[in-house]
Amino acid sequence: MSSLRRLMRSSLLLVLVGAFCAGCGEPPIDVAAAATTSAPRATTPMPPATPTPAKPLAGITVSLDPGHNAGNARHATQVNRTIQAGPIRKACDTTGAATRDGWPEWRFTQELATRVARRLRAQGAVVLFTRTARAPAWGPCITERARLGNRADVAVSLHADGNLSSRARGFHVIRPTFVRGYTGDIVRRSGTLATQLRDALVGTARLTPSTYIGRRGMIARGDLGGLVLSNVPKVFVEVGNMRHPTDARLLRSTRQQELVAAAITQGVVRWHAAEVAATG
Ligand SMILES: [Zn+2]
Repeated sequence: MSSLRRLMRSSLLLVLVGAFCAGCGEPPIDVAAAATTSAPRATTPMPPATPTPAKPLAGITVSLDPGHNAGNARHATQVNRTIQAGPIRKACDTTGAATRDGWPEWRFTQELATRVARRLRAQGAVVLFTRTARAPAWGPCITERARLGNRADVAVSLHADGNLSSRARGFHVIRPTFVRGYTGDIVRRSGTLATQLRDALVGTARLTPSTYIGRRGMIARGDLGGLVLSNVPKVFVEVGNMRHPTDARLLRSTRQQELVAAAITQGVVRWHAAEVAATG
């Protein structure tokens, strides 16, 4: 009997020690979880595939108008001749600006246009160029650039400025002002496009608004044939001042060009979304 009592007493002691030590040492095993993780998974049917949402610019055609042309300098007679652009008389085209060390605007606009086009297409847009690196040999004239832009739903001209003031730097977006008989159909929608592009160039591309022209990176003009003759919303983007060393460095930077291309694409996407929202 005494050995049985001793056995019972030691068993009780073990139970008590076990109870007091429940919180020490190895954590208790969660039996339910262990069972769940170790058991083979039941095969559950895949949920039905959700349809891929349409890309934001699906069905939209964008005209990209890279300013100037490598061949303009070799075709001075054709390029410099004055033409009638609606109510304005202007040169057919110009050779464009250049950095202080001679890197030309036409090359910048060509490089940027290629990057913008890639991004616009990724968002579903069809992209039309007013010129490429190979064609045409010069120009085209501003009237032709406008005419080609009118085949699209929206048009963006790409430029960089050549202001000679040492303090002049930063970007600006040019929207059309009201020109009777010409821009009444595009002023409002072009203004929305300009605002969206300006906001994206500040926010996404981290560009500095112009220190020398316009207000907060925007200006309205009625003296540009490419805008006056447009029948679709259109703006010019002057991405920076090529004569300013800081801007020149940014304009030539591949990384910065990609940021600008992303910002322009974002601006077009947001402009289009706003139009869809407004018209239902
Ligand atoms: Zn230009």
